Amino acid sequence: MNILVINAGSSSLKYQLLNPETQQVLAKGLCERIGIDGKFTYKPEGKEPVKEADVAMPTHNEAIKAVLDALVDAKNGVIGSMKEIDAVGHRVVHGGEKFARSVLITDEVMAAIEECNPLAPLHNPANIIGIRACQALMPGTPMVAVFDTAFHQTMPAAAYMYALPYEYYEKDKVRRYGFHGTSHKYVTQRAAAMLGKPIEELKLISCHLGNGSSITAVDGGKSVDTSMGFTPLAGLPMGTRCGDIDAGILQYLMNQYGMGIDEMLNILNKKSGVEGLSCVSSDFRDLESAAGKGDEKAALAQKKFAYEVKKYVGAYAAAMGGVDAVIFTAGVGENDKAIRSMVCEGLEYMGVKLDAAANDVRGEEKVISAADSKAKVLLIPTNEELMIAIDTAALAK
Ligand code: AMP
Repeated sequence: MNILVINAGSSSLKYQLLNPETQQVLAKGLCERIGIDGKFTYKPEGKEPVKEADVAMPTHNEAIKAVLDALVDAKNGVIGSMKEIDAVGHRVVHGGEKFARSVLITDEVMAAIEECNPLAPLHNPANIIGIRACQALMPGTPMVAVFDTAFHQTMPAAAYMYALPYEYYEKDKVRRYGFHGTSHKYVTQRAAAMLGKPIEELKLISCHLGNGSSITAVDGGKSVDTSMGFTPLAGLPMGTRCGDIDAGILQYLMNQYGMGIDEMLNILNKKSGVEGLSCVSSDFRDLESAAGKGDEKAALAQKKFAYEVKKYVGAYAAAMGGVDAVIFTAGVGENDKAIRSMVCEGLEYMGVKLDAAANDVRGEEKVISAADSKAKVLLIPTNEELMIAIDTAALAK
């Protein structure tokens, strides 16, 4: 079964054609600068990647058309015709409280996704445009929506409610939703397989540490708490996002500098996090190199990040009454051994003991805890596309 996975942003579109049963990726790539001029990248598996090309993409329709043309191309294509695409899986950022799992897309589902637009105004409208473009070019092919928020719909009210007047939840749906759900679901399922135990018997803490970062407590296969909130600004400090701060700071800084709320939020989203703190970069590779040369702010940003991750690990072990494994995934989690080591340092009291030699690894599924560590520490490369394809195949069947 071949599944086309589409992750549509406002001006870009990532795609991957894969077989979820064999896990073989047939081709993948990226359309960028949609609505501007259009750049197209295409990597067919087992063949030379096709050079980045200028392809006019006034709308997402031309972008999807370029993807389909490339997939069936006589020379560089990987399938004979579009009939060999059995279904399309679309990443949709926000499903609100309406979607606790992936769904086959119908007119009703599209309307319900649109109702979630105010909750993710930068993302959901772009996801919808991607779906519509595919529907126009592939009528009759089943389409599935896979939501970033769905996995977290199992959180209990004590975890998802904010201590605000209740009416804001009832009328305005203000609550913790959580994000990166597809990644947390994938790595926790892999963790259960690696540990050889049913997921229902495991207490797992999944640390998705990338440019955006979130941590999730997964008890018995269900998300019971997560660090991101109503928006993906909450929780850990990230590349450029501040994570949790005292809401009172907003009023103070806005008064101090005569800023409006949009300017303030731009600072919290785009100029804060490890970049803001280090004055160096949002990229952890740059922090490592600057800290290595004695840059104290870069070292502080690394420490602050690791410290906050550690606090969430402790908090979520407390929330679940224990932990069987801590999982590291995404760009930083998979590649940055120094951050992993700083997070785990001092957690021996709760049974978490890293093995320094085993931790000297990048991007490989591996147990990195010591043999006598009561809780395992696992490095698991995330694979959101595969998770989307698995869900899509199951629903399309
Ligand atoms: P993601 O959002 O999951 O794609 O993660 C991207 C981030 O991963 C980058 O901004 C870097 O901070 C981090 N990253 C990628 N490769 C490395 C590496 N080799 N060492 C440390 N951090 C890395």
